[in-house]
Formats: sequence, C-alpha cells, structure tokens
Amino acid sequence: MKTQSHETEQNLKDPVCGMEVSHAAASEKYVYQDKTYYFCSGACRETFETEPEKYIH
Ligand SMILES: [Zn+2]
Repeated sequence: MKTQSHETEQNLKDPVCGMEVSHAAASEKYVYQDKTYYFCSGACRETFETEPEKYIH
C-alpha cells in the first residue's frame, strides 16, 4: 500500500462540472478576468465561455 506524503501537483476544479482536473493534464483552459480556469474537456470550456458569470459565483 502506497501513501503519498505530499502532492506537488496542484489539482484544480473544473468550474462547470465540478470534476478535479490535474494541472498537468488540463489542456483546456480559459482566462477570464485575469484568472485562469481549467476544464476536463473542450465542451466544459465552451459552456463556461458562454456564461462565465454563472460558474464563478
Ligand atoms: Zn468538466
């Protein structure tokens, strides 16, 4: 059984579907109001782009 003492990789939350997206794997990102958001898929990114305000509040 392995335990990770610490994680250097930052996990980010996809604001659209709530899924955790690893920073390294996140190919879909979108900058909105000087903040970078990461997504699990292009579909989630497009959804965010359509109505960003809906997802950041
Ligand atoms: Zn998603």
